[in-house]
Amino acid sequence: MELANKTIIITGASSGIGAAAARLFACEGANVVLGARRSAELSRLTDEINSGGQHAVYLEGDAADSGYADALTELALRAFGSLDGAFNNVGIVGDMVAVPDMSIENWNTVIAVNLTSAFWAAKSQIAAMKRQGFGSIVFTSSFVGFSNGGMPGMGAYAASKAGLNGLVQSLAAEHAADGIRINSLLPGGTITPIAGEGNQDALDFIARLHPMKRMAAAEEIAQAALFLLSDRAQFMTGSPMIVDGGMSVRLL
Ligand code: NAP
Repeated sequence: MELANKTIIITGASSGIGAAAARLFACEGANVVLGARRSAELSRLTDEINSGGQHAVYLEGDAADSGYADALTELALRAFGSLDGAFNNVGIVGDMVAVPDMSIENWNTVIAVNLTSAFWAAKSQIAAMKRQGFGSIVFTSSFVGFSNGGMPGMGAYAASKAGLNGLVQSLAAEHAADGIRINSLLPGGTITPIAGEGNQDALDFIARLHPMKRMAAAEEIAQAALFLLSDRAQFMTGSPMIVDGGMSVRLL
């Protein structure tokens, strides 16, 4: 029970890595507070976790909205009395087009959902954690946007994730002395809707890019988030944890 009695917010919890993390963290003893836009998916997952004797609540909302992060923090405190951790995992790819063909609307949406949402989450969660004097936050970044990990057609996504890596390192330096650890998780290709789950040709193409010649299961990425949020990672802050089947080694 790596997260016994800890309360953890998970965003992007309605599918993929976030849903896998919700199930895993609840099995490890956490009270989970689930966020995303699709309430039917969140409701189903919450029922599944609670009917297994674990504890989940949810609140639907748009991560790009300035008030949503505060609403999730307030829900965590109201439902469970503390906020021990957060897995800020929301993300979208947006339109896969070269930058000269990209609309400003697409650029703004990707930056708002992937990067500005992290700003709102950090403001809200760090304020609550400072009052307690402890906490651990993990943001889902990507191998895209790290080091030489740019990809054709993914300019907005890569910029948002590279920005997220910089934000995480600044936050970690700002709040280490407050007892708050802040790390990022950089998955490689993972079998989820965002990566084309259900389209075998797309999945085979992405798998071949990895030295391991396969993609990750969402549960494998959730395991890394579990480690970063747990007390096993107590001396880690500001770390970009790469979990990518060797993809970044190939790119470097
Ligand atoms: P996914 O299954 O598509 O999950 C994305 C999640 O984000 C969904 O729960 C979605 O729920 C939520 N979301 C999207 N826009 C939102 C918004 N405006 N407000 C609130 N929630 C929103 O894909 P995933 O692979 O699990 O993605 C999770 C994270 O991993 C993302 O940050 C992604 O960039 C990162 N990542 C994925 C891969 C990969 O290959 N899969 C690789 C590297 C990094 P709703 O639609 O219900 O809002």
